Amino acid sequence: MKTLIKNAHVISPDVDLKKANVLIEKGKIKLVTTEAVPQKGVETVVDLRGKYLMPGFIDVHLHGACGFDVCDATPEAIGKIAEAKLAEGCTSFLPTTLTVANKTLKAAAKAVAAYKKDERFAKVIGIHLEGPFINPSCCGAQNPAFVRQPNIKEVLAISAISPVKLISYAPEMKGGDAFAAACFENGIVPSCGHTGATFAQFLPAYDKGLRHLTHFCNQMTKLHHREIGMVGAGFLLDDLNTEVICDRIHLCDDMLRLVFWKRDLAHVQMITDSLRCSHCPDGYAFEMGGLKVELKNGEARLVEGGNLAGSTLWLNKGLKNLVDVTGLPLKDLIRVTSWNQALELGLGTELGKVQKGFRADLVALDPKTFDVCAVFVDGEQRI
Ligand SMILES: [Zn+2]
Repeated sequence: MKTLIKNAHVISPDVDLKKANVLIEKGKIKLVTTEAVPQKGVETVVDLRGKYLMPGFIDVHLHGACGFDVCDATPEAIGKIAEAKLAEGCTSFLPTTLTVANKTLKAAAKAVAAYKKDERFAKVIGIHLEGPFINPSCCGAQNPAFVRQPNIKEVLAISAISPVKLISYAPEMKGGDAFAAACFENGIVPSCGHTGATFAQFLPAYDKGLRHLTHFCNQMTKLHHREIGMVGAGFLLDDLNTEVICDRIHLCDDMLRLVFWKRDLAHVQMITDSLRCSHCPDGYAFEMGGLKVELKNGEARLVEGGNLAGSTLWLNKGLKNLVDVTGLPLKDLIRVTSWNQALELGLGTELGKVQKGFRADLVALDPKTFDVCAVFVDGEQRI
C-alpha cells in the first residue's frame, strides 16, 4: 500500500524543504522530493497545504497524562497515555516509572508488555526507570521511602518482563560506576539524575561510558565556580546527552538560551516529564508515589514543600517554546525532538528523519500555532 503526502513543508535535521512530496510504501519513506511523484499504485493522497511535516516526536521521559500514570500499572493507563502522547505528535516513547516498590515496577512492566501487543497509538521503545536508585537528598517529587542502592539484578528482573532502555540513577551511590557498566552490558542507557554528585564523584561513571543527564538542571548539583557540579558537567562535557524540559517553568528562558546557544545540539533531547495531570484542567489534584500534588496555573507542585513535581507539557508546545525562546532555525532544533533520542537508543537508521529508508513515523504541524494536524505511525495515519 502506497501513501503520498503532498505539498508538505518538510523539516528534518539539516533539511528545510517546501512544497515537498513524500511517498510512503510498506510503512517506510520511499521518496522525498520536490518533483512530481508518479501516482501509480498510490491508494491514499494527503494534501498538507504547506503544513510542516517532521519526524514523529520521541519522548524518553514521561510519567503520565489524562489522569493516568505509568505506575498505575494497568494496560488501560499505558494505552490512555499513549493516546495522549500521539495527540502531541509523539510516535514513540519510553513510559517512565517513579521511585516506588519493586512489585509496582514489575506490575508497570507487565502493563507495558500488554500494551505492546496491540500498539494502537504511540509506540513503546522501552521502559525508562526513573529511580529507585537515586540520592535520597535529591528526591524532588520522588518518594524517599522507596529509595534503594543500585542493583542491576532488580533492573534485569523488570527488563525480563518488558525491556528497560533507560535508567536514571545517582552515580555517586555505592557501586554507581560499576552499575553504569552493567547497564551497558545489558543494552540499557544509564543516566545521571536526582543526583548530589560533585563533578569528581561523577567522573568514574563517565569513564564507564555514562553520557546522559536526566532533566538537566533539575534535581542535580548546581554550578559553582569552585565546584561545577552536574550543571557544570553538562556545559563542560559536550557529549553528555542532556534531557531538557522545555515548558519555560523547569528552566527559565535564559537558561534555555544558555543550553541551546552554547551546547552542541547533537546532545540535547527535549522531554516532557509529563505527569498524570497533563491534558487535565487546573485544580486537578492527585497522589504521586504517595505524595500529594496539585495543578495550579499549569504548574504541578507538591502540596507539601512546593517542589515542582514534573510537568504538564505537550511535545508540540515544547517545540514552539524552543522556537520562540531561542530563535534557532527549525532544521537545527528538530534534532532534539527525535533523532538524538533515536541515535542514543540504537535506532538512528530508522527513526528521527524524514528521509528515504526511515520509518514513516511523521507529524504534521500548523506552521503558526504548532497545533498537531496529522500523525502517521509506520505510514498509517492515526490522527
Ligand atoms: Zn520524571
